[in-house]
Amino acid sequence: MNVVDFLVGDPSRVATGWTLAVVSEGYTERDLNRGLFAKDVSLFVAKLLATPPFNHPDILPLINVIKVSEKSQNSGNEIELRNPPPEESPFHTAFGAMFGRKKTPEGVQIRRLLYGDNRKVQEFVRRQPGLAAVNYFLVIVNNTKIYGASGGSVAWTSKNPATTWTDTAVHEIGHHAFNLDDEYPYSGESDNDPIRTFPADTSDSTAPNVAKAGDLAKLKWASLVTLHPSFVPTTVQTSPCVRNHPVKPSIQPIGEEEIGAYEGAAHFDCGLYRPALNCKMREDRKHFCRVCEAVGRINIGHYMVTPSDESAMAAGAWTHVQSFLEDNSRMLSYNSDTGAYAISHTHGYFGSERRPDGTPPLSRTNPDLGTGSIGQGWTWLVPFTLNGTLHHLVHQFDSGRLGMFKTNEFANTLIPTFASPSGNVFHTHVVTLTIDGAAHFIGYNRFTGDASLFRIDSDSSDPTPVTTMQWGRGHTSVVSVPIDGEPFVLTYRIATGEVMIRRITPPGFTMTFASKLNFWVTNLTHLSLLELGGRSYIIRHCAFNGRTSLHHLRASGSGADFVCGIPPSGSGAPTRFGVGAPAVGKMSFPPPTGSVTFDAVFLYNAIQQNIHATPLSVR
Ligand SMILES: [Zn+2]
Ligand SMILES: [Zn+2]
Repeated sequence: MNVVDFLVGDPSRVATGWTLAVVSEGYTERDLNRGLFAKDVSLFVAKLLATPPFNHPDILPLINVIKVSEKSQNSGNEIELRNPPPEESPFHTAFGAMFGRKKTPEGVQIRRLLYGDNRKVQEFVRRQPGLAAVNYFLVIVNNTKIYGASGGSVAWTSKNPATTWTDTAVHEIGHHAFNLDDEYPYSGESDNDPIRTFPADTSDSTAPNVAKAGDLAKLKWASLVTLHPSFVPTTVQTSPCVRNHPVKPSIQPIGEEEIGAYEGAAHFDCGLYRPALNCKMREDRKHFCRVCEAVGRINIGHYMVTPSDESAMAAGAWTHVQSFLEDNSRMLSYNSDTGAYAISHTHGYFGSERRPDGTPPLSRTNPDLGTGSIGQGWTWLVPFTLNGTLHHLVHQFDSGRLGMFKTNEFANTLIPTFASPSGNVFHTHVVTLTIDGAAHFIGYNRFTGDASLFRIDSDSSDPTPVTTMQWGRGHTSVVSVPIDGEPFVLTYRIATGEVMIRRITPPGFTMTFASKLNFWVTNLTHLSLLELGGRSYIIRHCAFNGRTSLHHLRASGSGADFVCGIPPSGSGAPTRFGVGAPAVGKMSFPPPTGSVTFDAVFLYNAIQQNIHATPLSVR
């Protein structure tokens, strides 16, 4: 029998992945030899991999689960509840597991609190060859008689009840690996525990799923709320305090998955809020609520994006500000009132030199280099590549005019190659995409719901109509989002908070994700694609309150998950076009003088006339 067995993943990923060691406690040599621990670990792994987010194809490749066996002199079933528990375990098991560690505030022993020698567990695992970098630990205690578990610096669980102990193990991993707090209100046993109110002068829970403030403005999980803002907080406040506050009558009936603010969490009935009616952190057998699941996804690793402090840099007065080139190292600013455009290096914004129009010059000696006019009135200005050359497609909403501009080889001049007459079909949104290697664009009209696909065969003639789709009316943001090299388009309706993701093919589209109402908040004015570390993300921005957040797009376009907030840049519409205009995006800073390249989210604020750049690092 091996001491170490990989059940998920492999040794090469221990240090970079999310690595959980499952350790035996109270298994005798005979138990181990007859495969009892192997069977128990398999049950646990089956449960783990059936629980979102662990079961998702994006997440699975990041996970390692390792069985680490250690024999005990006695079976875990010899472990009895003692009150109080002795200093040292008298039960002769490998890691000293015992029940009943803590007491309720009223002094009643909490029997289910199973614990043991955390240090000894960690050291035992990390001593094994190749396991020095293991970051998470679950101990399965071979006791089928007493229900018990805990999740501090090591997660512990017994095997009682036989049908649900694996659910309990995943709940404890929620504590141990994701810093989640319990979402249930009792402290001792659920049925005879007194009602408690969280003292108002106590500092807030550090857990991401429990909060003192239940109002939306201060809510920790505000960006994940699915209920209408007027339904947050979601439960009825009661005086005196009661257990299990009812949901406000006006909202009932309510689904367990609806995210709001429900009073009663972390062993208090009043004064602390949880995100959902139910969750694995409240009832072991449930799935994680959307907030806890999102926290899990973030913690598992690769989705973790860390924003640093933002810089605000003067940028001039424009209607469009966007990055371009493959490496996002240049910025293109355009003013549709004057027709003027200006091209700058991204790193130029950090310097103090500016052209009279407010943008950093490409050349100190020739500040006009990179400036010119592409004509007034364009509402859309979107890049595409034709025969290896970067171009921009322009469209005017109210006339239907369309134009194309080729970028010269130095990427400092836009050269007109095509202009259509007025009177063409007009689009409220224009996005470019690559289908089977060929440049295409989609013109969407939010008043009719029509989305017309065109192929761009040449930069000197009208694009070729391919098909017209019906997407429904009222989408206020349309973003082209290549995922794993395939063309997708994400749309959002500000009125309903709906998000849809369509995979685009020449005959039309396949819907890969269609959210419920209020999937996202109903105040987002800007959405933009951000490719980071080989993955596709969406930047969400609300110009009314300056809030920005980052969302990961799942493989095959099957969903979008919150990753992190970006520090707010202050309110103020980033351009007067507001909805849909690309004034949010990714800018990258190649080394001007040999320093390290970094990626940032930028927001152009038309009122402040500056660019806010928040550097991001991906783990
Ligand atoms: Zn718990
Ligand atoms: Zn939860």
